[in-house]
Amino acid sequence: MDLEVLNGLLTPKSVAVVGASATQGKIGHTVVKNLVDSNFAGGVFPINPGEDEILGFKCYKSVLDVDQPIDAAILTVPAKFVPGVVEECGKKGIKGLLIITSGFSEVGLVDLEKDLVKTANSYGMRILGPNIVGILSNSDNFNGSFAPFLPFNGSASLVTQSGALLIGIDAATTMKGIGFDKLISVGNMADVNFADLIEWLDQDKNTSVITLHVEGFREGRRVIDVSRKASKPIIALKAGVSAHGAAAAASHTGSLAGSEKIYQSAFVQAGIIQAEDLDNLFDRTLVLSLQPPLKGDNILIITNGGGVGVLATDAAEKYGIPLKFAPEDVQNDLKKYMPEFGSAKNPVDLTGMAGNEWYHDSVKSSYEHPWVHGMVVLYCETAMTDPLGIAKSIKAAVTESGIKDKPVTVSFIGGERSAAAIRWLVENGVPAYSAPDVALNAMAALWEYELIREDINNVPFEVKNVDRKAAYKVIEGARKEGREALTEIEAKRIFEAYDLPVTKSRIATTEDEALKLAKEIGFPIVMKILSPDILHKSDAGGVKVDINSEDEVRQNFNEILKNVKAYKPDAEILGIVIQEMAPWGTEVILGSVNDSTFGPTAMFGLGGIFVEVLKDVTFKVAPFSLKQAKAMIKEIKAAPILEGVRGEKPKDTDMLAETICKYANMIVDLKDEVAESDANPVLLYEKGNGLKVADARIILKKK
Ligand code: ADP
Ligand code: MG
Repeated sequence: MDLEVLNGLLTPKSVAVVGASATQGKIGHTVVKNLVDSNFAGGVFPINPGEDEILGFKCYKSVLDVDQPIDAAILTVPAKFVPGVVEECGKKGIKGLLIITSGFSEVGLVDLEKDLVKTANSYGMRILGPNIVGILSNSDNFNGSFAPFLPFNGSASLVTQSGALLIGIDAATTMKGIGFDKLISVGNMADVNFADLIEWLDQDKNTSVITLHVEGFREGRRVIDVSRKASKPIIALKAGVSAHGAAAAASHTGSLAGSEKIYQSAFVQAGIIQAEDLDNLFDRTLVLSLQPPLKGDNILIITNGGGVGVLATDAAEKYGIPLKFAPEDVQNDLKKYMPEFGSAKNPVDLTGMAGNEWYHDSVKSSYEHPWVHGMVVLYCETAMTDPLGIAKSIKAAVTESGIKDKPVTVSFIGGERSAAAIRWLVENGVPAYSAPDVALNAMAALWEYELIREDINNVPFEVKNVDRKAAYKVIEGARKEGREALTEIEAKRIFEAYDLPVTKSRIATTEDEALKLAKEIGFPIVMKILSPDILHKSDAGGVKVDINSEDEVRQNFNEILKNVKAYKPDAEILGIVIQEMAPWGTEVILGSVNDSTFGPTAMFGLGGIFVEVLKDVTFKVAPFSLKQAKAMIKEIKAAPILEGVRGEKPKDTDMLAETICKYANMIVDLKDEVAESDANPVLLYEKGNGLKVADARIILKKK
């Protein structure tokens, strides 16, 4: 990607405002005014054929009339004029277009939007939008938007899909002192999307944290790739979680919000940490932008009240950083700064008697101890203390220690004085919050970031012994017959080509043949209907298991045919499958979808009610490493069942992980052909005994 072109779009040195207006209240006026108010130092060229001057700037009829170079154009003209303007901007040699105008793909005009991109790209221009609020950047003194003011200055940069939200966020975070360098509205993402912006922001020297508000990605895989490579923390809030929310998001920005579970896995695979809600997004952004990484999980809490200490302890556990007792020397030292009835254990309770000095000294001494990886300081407003004094003591202790590689978060509970102290701390680089659990959640965000980055660069599992030719032969066979649904036999042939362990099967067309094949395979056997028209064989009475004799073979042969004829009289019957009966085992299921955002994605879960009723399944964008497959197995709620409960032996999860990887490689390899597939059930045995795919299904993409 040409990052330089994006420089022109995202940090322009000169801008045209096409559709600039002299009339107050119009967006075309507000944008020019915002450029002035933000002290933008570059050239500003209002474009409006009906005006001579706007806010002191000479006005031009067209960008083509401007005799100086222009980096970016901000478009506020009605949608019908946009194509013409894009053409002119291209001729002018402009690098980037910020299209504020709405009325494109979000109202169904997808082709019109595509044409804009085509035209722009043909001139080497990139488009942000359409349907955006614009870009705000503190480091460039650039408010190229119709949001009222530059955000509170900081080092996080936000990318959001919602323009209205951007304006709200601008005001809300300014009030809280949560600092941003850039706020970027991506709108419909017709051209520049999250992947581009993550890549660009990662190399932007004014950005230290990338904050995303996401409804849906356009290039999911590229987002994963660029995020993995990013050197800065990325945090995302995914909207459109509920089915209803997803539908609203789709109609809102014209993008498809994929399945929430796939998104969650994709974030993990990308090394992106997540936020639960908007407040959480900013609370976490604050800590990520102000504090160093957390290099271990020894968190020490210092408080002046037992009650908040307990709340914080609960929160620490809930957010994955459970407290441990500090070593003896830390405790002994801390006892100097508390009365007899205080507690030097973790949480450290200085008691309500703690004033500036105790806070200062206890924080300083423990913060310097090598055991402590991170500190959370809590304070409840008291009559005898001044919150601002406590805040300053905490800050002084941290500064005096000279330590720069250990994070601190703070919670002050109280009224207006505490609110002012929180603000003071935030402005002085210490993430401070009102609720103790938020301070713990912030610390946990740093830990999540450490953990998530450990895992992202795993090399995908490599499958040997792949017989791709055999797989394609099966697919071509079905294509010739105009079928998308493969039979179990066909699907299993493909599975086998990818070295997956399937039950041995043969096809019988007569009773005698069935008998002969049954003897060849060896009792007990399973008999199943073979028909491209019957996908769920048991539903049609088309599966008989545990067949042990010649008599049973004859009897079931006829019974299956009878059942299927009754179930679906016009079903084409190719024969009866005579299949090796796999021994009883734990039923698990593998599945795959070709997700519209992330491409081939594998699913894993326990079979039976676990998948049907409890939906206890997990996804991962394929391919992935053996370690990641093992993580998948642990992710489901029913995971303990596989580890062996109540005297049962543990299951062969090593072999299962390998099988999941092979399956993942298969769906990646066949992504242009296969729409979805599953192995249901896979029978999983005790450690050392492997597993067997008892049933397989593949649906081809429509061509
Ligand atoms: P469908 O899912 O199309 O109804 P299956 O092939 O999955 O049909 O068979 C239904 C059930 O029969 C399976 O869930 C499994 O419990 C059992 N079964 C099927 N094939 C075998 C086999 N080869 N060995 C052991 N059990 C089997
Ligand atoms: Mg099945």
